[in-house]
Amino acid sequence: MEHVDVIDSVCTYCGVGCDISASVKENKIIDISAHPEGVVSQGNLCVKGKYGYAFLDAHDRLKTPRIRKRFLEDNPKIYDAIALHVKPLDETWSEVSLEGATTAAAMKLQEIQKKYGSKSICSIGGARTSCESSYLLQKFTRQTLGSPHVDNCARICHAPSLKGMRTTIGEGAATNPYNDIYNAEFMIVFGSNTTEAHPIIANRIVDVAGKHDNLAVFDVREITLHRFAKYKGIIPHEANLLVLNMMAYVIITEELYNEHFLADRTKGFESFKEKILNDPYANPAYFEKLEGYESLSKLIPKVAREYALKKSMIFWGLGVTEHIDGSYAVMAITHLALMTGNIGKPGAGLMPLRGQNNVQGACDMGMLPYYDPDYQTPKEIGLMTPQLVDEMLDGRIKAVINMGEDLTHVHPNSNKVNHALDQVEFLMVQELFMTDIAKRADIVIGVKSAYEKTGVYVNAMRRLHLSQPLVTSDLPDDWEVIKLVENKLGGNYTYENSKQIWDEVREVAYRRFSGASYNRLERHRIRGLQWPVHTEDTPILHQLDFRTEDGYGEFHYHQYELRGMVQELVEKNLTGYYLTTGRTLAQYNNASQTSRCDKLHKRYDETVLFVHEDDAKDFTSDRVMLKTAFGQSAPISIKFTDKIKPKTLFCTFHHGKAGINRLFGDRSDVFTLTAAFKSIKVEIMNDEDSRDSF
Ligand code: SF4
Repeated sequence: MEHVDVIDSVCTYCGVGCDISASVKENKIIDISAHPEGVVSQGNLCVKGKYGYAFLDAHDRLKTPRIRKRFLEDNPKIYDAIALHVKPLDETWSEVSLEGATTAAAMKLQEIQKKYGSKSICSIGGARTSCESSYLLQKFTRQTLGSPHVDNCARICHAPSLKGMRTTIGEGAATNPYNDIYNAEFMIVFGSNTTEAHPIIANRIVDVAGKHDNLAVFDVREITLHRFAKYKGIIPHEANLLVLNMMAYVIITEELYNEHFLADRTKGFESFKEKILNDPYANPAYFEKLEGYESLSKLIPKVAREYALKKSMIFWGLGVTEHIDGSYAVMAITHLALMTGNIGKPGAGLMPLRGQNNVQGACDMGMLPYYDPDYQTPKEIGLMTPQLVDEMLDGRIKAVINMGEDLTHVHPNSNKVNHALDQVEFLMVQELFMTDIAKRADIVIGVKSAYEKTGVYVNAMRRLHLSQPLVTSDLPDDWEVIKLVENKLGGNYTYENSKQIWDEVREVAYRRFSGASYNRLERHRIRGLQWPVHTEDTPILHQLDFRTEDGYGEFHYHQYELRGMVQELVEKNLTGYYLTTGRTLAQYNNASQTSRCDKLHKRYDETVLFVHEDDAKDFTSDRVMLKTAFGQSAPISIKFTDKIKPKTLFCTFHHGKAGINRLFGDRSDVFTLTAAFKSIKVEIMNDEDSRDSF
């Protein structure tokens, strides 16, 4: 009988972090299923977890590093140093050994450092690789290169959750384990298409809502979760803060707040209360003026009452964070928990649904310009990615190290980002495939995927999972590439394996990870451990104190700013179309992995624009292009539906060729510069009348 190994690990896709069991024969994965005892997956995986492994053996996997021929021509000294390692590949690229690639990278970084100074270099990425690699990239950038400029893709997703939660309760992470959904008496899901983006969490929500009819869902369009909701909130674009402040208003005016909790655990409530009561937008009756949304004036008080009087949890996604007031909206969410005491106990808490498999870990590791590992203050605060893009355009950033983040695809204003990258002297990319950004690089180094290496990943409930290789690979891990470059810059990294790096993390980031040794993580691979991990781990945060300096939860009121669709509705002048974007179940991020898995790709192989049936008169061709002041999409197929409000459009961003992110400019969250991906007014160009201009 042929030998099949069964190896346990963690899914490489979304922030849910499901426990998987892979069947492996002759170093090939033949099946992935949920670990039968997995506390996260609970015996189920979504299609990505089940079928999303074929990319490992894709014919175009980056096996050998590449160096741009033009780069070699422009840098003759580097070419001389590595000539023996270089072999022409095609018109644009030569293949190069890892030794040659890292020598070239070190020489170029040194030259740029000398010529323009350390701060002309930045590093971006880390949310899709292990904690060990994220940690080492920020350490290398800050300490070896001397640049404070590090960032990761939390910049375009949950940086506002970090900001909003740290400001009010001192910690920017989910407060409870997912299984507390079974202890909750009431749940609110806000701006999260959970069944598509975090399906295994959605399973729990649906299960509980089905039994207890205790779910409220708010979104700008009808999503699957609405079917299971007692309160089905469809709200106008950019109305999150408006709705959340209205809930606070109801809780205050009806005196539904928890006086003991407010007195013992919080400060600033009296001033917050006064401001909310004087807020011209906070009375839910305001919605009576908005045609098509009038029912919200009755629905919001009902939701606020149930939330306040029951043990409740709030879940949110990028529908909350990716707006100009994303951080303020997160603060408004935490205000609700602080007023009602719905935090710090089983079945009550706050759950930001982090997107990528290790975006929580990358932030914990200090891959942010304003935090060192463990959220300590760095010696010098660096720039956020949008600011770095501006610095590239202005000629002050000259070199970019990009580790597993497709900056030119998933960030906003793609035309601007591409133009900015054209200005830099050196771009190095560590990737699995020739993604959009890899195609622009001077050096591209193929690295191990998550299924080929050992490392720690932190999921959306702060759960650490020690991943182990399902198959072996000769490719380097991300951290090994960094180590090689560092050594060639005269450094002294001697790490032989990821464990040695993790042991250092446990010392540097001891407040969260001191007790999380590999040994212990191995022993608890099924249960996982939720940080902070010392003698025990911490499934529920904030039980006695908040993690602010003085232990009190704080209120930080901000008034909703009238704009966009709400303003047009109030003025009875709704014109044009508002686009919102999001994920679909079968694809992930820039689709570099999922599009190489046939079983996934055939489920969703092109971008589709969802349009309300009543708007059909404006869509006279089969495909349309969308246009804004910042750019134009490629032609996109249309699907008419009644699941979306008139004048609202929805599409995904996974397929680069649709060019959706060209439409978005620099409009972003006021604190974190997180792109306002969830609402933009677009012009419709039917394919027949816009063909010439495309
Ligand atoms: S829900 Fe997320 S972590 Fe779980 S199987 Fe699906 S993609 Fe993987």
